[in-house]
Order: sequence, then C-alpha cells, then structure tokens
Amino acid sequence: MQEINGEHLTIAAVATAVAPGQGGIAVIRLSGPQAQDAVRAVTCIPGDQPWASHRVLYGHVLAKGGVERIDEVLVVLMLAPRSFTGEDVVEIHCHGGVMAVQRVLERVLAQPGVRRAQPGEFSQRAVLNGRLDLTRAEAISDLVAARSQRAAQLAMAGVDGGVQQRIEMLRQRLLDQLSELEARVDFEEDLPPLDGEALLEELLDVRRALLQLVEDGQRSAALRQGLRVALVGRPNVGKSSLLNRLSRRERAIVTDLPGTTRDLLESEIVLEGVPITLLDTAGIRATQDAVEQIGIARSHDALVSADLVVLLFDLSDGWTADDESLRQLIPEGVPWLRVGNKADLVEGTGAAAAATADELEADVRFSAATGVGEAELVQGLLERCGALTDGALLLALNQRQGDLAAAAADALQRSQQVAADGLPWDFWTIDLRQAIQSLGEITGEELTESVLDRIFSRFCIGK
Ligand code: GDP
Repeated sequence: MQEINGEHLTIAAVATAVAPGQGGIAVIRLSGPQAQDAVRAVTCIPGDQPWASHRVLYGHVLAKGGVERIDEVLVVLMLAPRSFTGEDVVEIHCHGGVMAVQRVLERVLAQPGVRRAQPGEFSQRAVLNGRLDLTRAEAISDLVAARSQRAAQLAMAGVDGGVQQRIEMLRQRLLDQLSELEARVDFEEDLPPLDGEALLEELLDVRRALLQLVEDGQRSAALRQGLRVALVGRPNVGKSSLLNRLSRRERAIVTDLPGTTRDLLESEIVLEGVPITLLDTAGIRATQDAVEQIGIARSHDALVSADLVVLLFDLSDGWTADDESLRQLIPEGVPWLRVGNKADLVEGTGAAAAATADELEADVRFSAATGVGEAELVQGLLERCGALTDGALLLALNQRQGDLAAAAADALQRSQQVAADGLPWDFWTIDLRQAIQSLGEITGEELTESVLDRIFSRFCIGK
C-alpha cells in the first residue's frame, strides 16, 4: 500500500454538502486501515448483522460513554481493494443537517489512527492505489463543480475516460517512435535505415491532434468557468427588466448572489448551457447622477473584469449623449454589445425613429416588455465572448491538461527544427521524451509530488 506524506493514517470527512437544515442524509466517509475499527467503536449495531463488505448495516452512533444516541445511521463497509480509494472504506449515512453530522464526525476523528481528510485526499489515494486515473479524478471534481448541463456533460466525458484514452493513444504513438529512434541510436548498423521524413510526419500528426485538443479546451473554458457580463445603461432604459427576462429564460437559474457591494448586484443565469454571472450596475443609478458617478472604482472594476459589457439604451430616446458617455467608460479591449431596448415602443415608426441624426444602429433591437429580439440578444452575447460552441464539442481538456498538451506540442514543434538542421537521431529523442513526459503528466503515468499537490488541492473536502 502506498504511503502518503510519510504516514498512513485513516482519513475521514463529510462527503456530502453541508448546509444547515438541508439534505435528507449526509455521508461521512472513512478510508484507511482503521476505518472499520473506528466505526465499530462508535456505533451500536443491533442483532446479528454481519460486518460484511458491500452490505448495509443499520444502527446508531453513540456519544462517548456509549449511552446517548447521536444519530440513527446506516453503515456501508467496502473493504479493500473493492472501494473508491482501494483501501478499506466505511461510509456512515447520517441524517442531514449540521449538528448531528458534526458530532458523528468528531466521534470518528477521536478514534486512534484517524484524522481529518485534506481536500481531494480520497481521490488522491484512489489515484495512488491505481483505482482511478488522474484525468477521471479531475473530471469527477469538474462534474461536482459544474454549473450548467453542458459543463456537466463535458465533465462526464472525462469521467468516462475520454480524455485518458485520447491522450494515452497519442502518447503511445510517440513512444513507438521513440523506441524506433532509440534502437537506431544503439544499433544503427543492424537495422534497416529509418525513414526520417515519415517519422517527422508522424510526430507532426500527433502535434496537430494535440493542438486541436488544446483549442477545444479553450473553447470550452466559458462552459466550465462561465462568463462575467456587466450590464450598463442610463436609468430607466430597462436594465432590471432585461435581467428579469433573461433570468426567466431557463429553468437552471442557479442563485441570486448577494452583491459584493451594495451597489453591484450579481445574478447567475445559464444561457445556452453557458453559466453567466450578470453584474448589474443598477444600484449605482438609484443613488447617483449616473453618468459621472459610474466612474467610481468598483463599477469600473466590474467593467474591467467583465468578459463582455452589455450597454443598454432606450430606442425611443435614441442614442443620447449620456449613452455615449457610458460607452466611453468601457475599457479598451473589453468586448461590448450595444442593445437597443423598448423596440415595442418604436415599432411601426421603425425607419422614422432610426432616422434621427444622432442615432446609432443597435447591434440588437430588443424589447424586455415583449421579448422581441431575445434570441438575437442571447446569440449576440455569446458570440461576442467567443462562447458559442457548436455542440460538437465532446471532449475538453481542463487548464492543467491543456497547458501540458500545449507543452508537448511545442516539444514536437522543436523536433521539426532538429530535423531541418539534420541533427543525429539522439537529438530527436530529447524533444520526443519531453513531449511524452508532458502527456504522461496529463494521464498520471508520470506522477510527481508537485503534480499531485497542484491537482488535488483544488478539490473539495470529502472528495
Ligand atoms: P432600469 O432603470 O434600467 O433598470 O430600467 P427598468 O428595468 O426599471 O425599466 C424602466 C421602465 O421602462 C419600467 O417602467 C419598465 O416597465 C419600462 N420598460 C423596460 N423595458 C421596456 C420595454 O422593452 N418596452 C417598454 N415599453 N417598456 C419597458
């Protein structure tokens, strides 16, 4: 069995989300050699229920002293190696909420050889024990964190092993070439001559495949992380109305986040599978002379950090000097969308309204009141941020995997230079090894301590 951090203690944590008054059950998970003993010590299991693997036991967790019942529980034993971590795992299914769960956890943690799990430590043990490959472990974490259906689907492709297979296949192709090269380095005269051109073509073919994966990963970043969209406009142009309409659009409204400041409201919605945090500067207009005051630091920060600014104006007023002042506040380089609202008011007058000298054409004509132009608004918004994916995206590398794939592609690029310079075979192997190493770090084939730490520290406790 593998040693982690030089010790081999049993770890324990609440594996389910903890929120007061929520959730019918909560699961406490233990993994390690003391798991079974620790749970036996704190529970009372009546009758002659056997402590057999993969069976459910019914009983109570008792407080210290063995009299007071803390909670009524189910206990599931999963003995090594048939468990998530590959070690003995015991789950205690308690009633949900916070108080009882914490007490049960404290009881378990008080047992000899048991300590609190670090974030991601269960998954880390699973990887170290060969129960789970690295990309799958990451995908599980992504699945847990997914904020939209599309993100969850992408993560699931990773859980199913899609990333692992693709990368491993490419890595194998490089390993094949490496062994050809190494044979030539050692036994050049005994072997048929190596076709350098074919070899190079194969390397570049792998490189192309890697670059495609990197690109797909970048395209999926919006799906995974979501977009920040700042909503800006003069008072009464219809910002709140737009927000309300978009929020109703999909069932998957996640939450109304309390604003980081009183003046900045954030709400989270999902558009076409892309999670979007809408930063509404509405609070600012209520108290201030909007145009001068919007320059205050925090709304400026919101604009700078936004992936997109939606500048809303009132079509029935046309594009006013105040609208223009707001436009000038949008930082250079931040994409923005000009949305004309209240299209219903200028309907019929259409051409006439657009004819006023200072009116600019809106990117999107919209009506928060009737919903006209809503589809165009959503489309325009996602397009402007480069978040429109064609649904064909089935697999996506996360940031870490993408960085490594890009590093591997760079190394392969260098081999082209080596070939062009007509250097001997052993020079080729340097870059090739580098590429293989990078791909091995993606799959976990080449694990180093720092790789593991970097990956699992992002996980949540109990995973
Ligand atoms: P905000 O100050 O920018 O948040 O604007 P509100 O959303 O509060 O809207 C200001 C007023 O304009 C309200 O009376 C809305 O009912 C009205 N309004 C908003 N959108 C439309 C629209 O598309 N058509 C019409 N006719 N009225 C609208």
